[in-house]
Amino acid sequence: MLKPNMSLKKNPMPSQDPKVRAHNFEEVACGYTEEMAIDEALRCLHCKHMPCVEGCPVNIHIPEFIQKIKEQDYEAAYQIIAETSSLPAVCGRVCPQETQCESRCVRGIKGEPVGIGRLERFVADWHNAHSEAAPAVPEPNGHKVAIIGSGPSGLTCAGDLAKKGYKVTVFEALHLAGGVLVYGIPEFRLPKAIVQKEVDNLKAMGVDVETNMVIGKTLTIDEIFEMGYEAVFIGSGAGLPNFMNIPGESLKGVYSANEYLTRSNLMKAFRENPVTPIMKGGKVAVVGGGNVAMDAARTALRLGADQVYIVYRRSMEELPARREEVEHAMEEGIEFNLLTNPTEILGYTNPENPRDPKNGSVIGMKCIRMELGEPDERGRRRPVPIPDSEFTLAVDTVVMAIGTSPNPLIKSTTKGLEVNRRGGIVVEENTGATSREGVYAGGDAVTGAATVISAMGAGKVAAAAIDEYLAGK
Ligand code: FAD
Ligand code: SF4
Ligand code: SF4
Repeated sequence: MLKPNMSLKKNPMPSQDPKVRAHNFEEVACGYTEEMAIDEALRCLHCKHMPCVEGCPVNIHIPEFIQKIKEQDYEAAYQIIAETSSLPAVCGRVCPQETQCESRCVRGIKGEPVGIGRLERFVADWHNAHSEAAPAVPEPNGHKVAIIGSGPSGLTCAGDLAKKGYKVTVFEALHLAGGVLVYGIPEFRLPKAIVQKEVDNLKAMGVDVETNMVIGKTLTIDEIFEMGYEAVFIGSGAGLPNFMNIPGESLKGVYSANEYLTRSNLMKAFRENPVTPIMKGGKVAVVGGGNVAMDAARTALRLGADQVYIVYRRSMEELPARREEVEHAMEEGIEFNLLTNPTEILGYTNPENPRDPKNGSVIGMKCIRMELGEPDERGRRRPVPIPDSEFTLAVDTVVMAIGTSPNPLIKSTTKGLEVNRRGGIVVEENTGATSREGVYAGGDAVTGAATVISAMGAGKVAAAAIDEYLAGK
């Protein structure tokens, strides 16, 4: 029997050199080798009360899959994860493990927790590299369900229903399925081939994926029901970007993070002579402090920016992005302007030539320094401007990464669909049922911008509820 590993530290994740990776789009973290995975698995104490499992939103049987790694039975480890999670290769990479499963790990009390996410990724990658078996095609049960949106909530709901024999069609507005996993999270954090494999597996199970279908424009939910679908799941995400409403936001060179990342990830702006217009090079300011801001800043660097700034109005302590992403961004040379808030974006005007193509382009961003005042209703200290501390940051591009909301299109074209004041679809917590009979919803369309694993969890809950609803019909 192998001896337990009582090291206080996780096995470090091998990754690309920061100087090299800052100029390429290849994956930053390279993944554990088999030796590292076994060594890390040996840190797990197999606690009887399994606190880590409670920390996982889909309750993966963590100690059980780790035991299988110790036994070098990686396929069995994969099957244990697959009982509860349909996207392990994705979650092992992008889940905020430090605030979920790993935050409850007892090894974290006197050292670093077990690297649960890294082990999950190892197992999923091993399965993808070694398993040739096509997914089983289930016996049809004669019922038809439509899914709107192909992000993690929609893909999970589709997968769970297809396994039960439903004829499932996914309607996706963009030309490629995957939601934020393909258009938002960059290749260097989540290779697109992994998402494509998940989509291909669904297709192999008989799921139809219809792209370029904007529900609310191309088809309405009423029309979907008229086509014979008996239930609908809305997993349309929260893709509507927020802006600060400061002067200069309509200048050339100002982007929402969603637009900027979509142009790079989905429309391949990083290629030479891309078909999609995007500003490359120069100085770039990214406003915001979440994962989206880190992704936009690191993408700007890889697209050839000379200097990239994060501009965030609170301090490092409140910065919401995952620590690992912040550390990676810093190693790559992103400069953090903390306790700083933009007040105006400045544009170029040539007084002598009104036709100068440079007219209306960004040349800088006026900012003010902030300090932290009293806590707000959520207990976070409120940033307050410091008088007379204004300064101008010389930049050529500004990317706004200050949050997104659900798009109102589906609500405005669907009778009887209740939404809250933030635009989120109102659902019953344990079923995902909306105020409209036969219509279910989940993921960011309900909660506003959240996480992959919570969207996946919502897709699972809704699939079970749809199955119960249609069985009763
Ligand atoms: P989405 O993934 O948004 O998918 C919704 C899909 O619906 C999209 O494909 C959209 O095109 C489609 N759609 C919208 N409207 C319509 C319509 N009318 N008709 C048809 N289709 C429609 N989470 C993490 O856990 N870890 C991370 O590291 C992380 N990083 C992120 C980085 C970025 C840049 C972004 C933007 C988000 C990140 N998130 C991260 C959040 C996470 O990706 C989302 O919470 C998750 O993808 C939500 O899943 P979803 O299925 O609800 O919606
Ligand atoms: Fe942890 Fe996420 Fe995996 Fe759950 S899905 S075990 S939270 S990494
Ligand atoms: Fe293993 Fe940590 Fe879970 Fe205990 S809490 S079973 S050590 S992963």
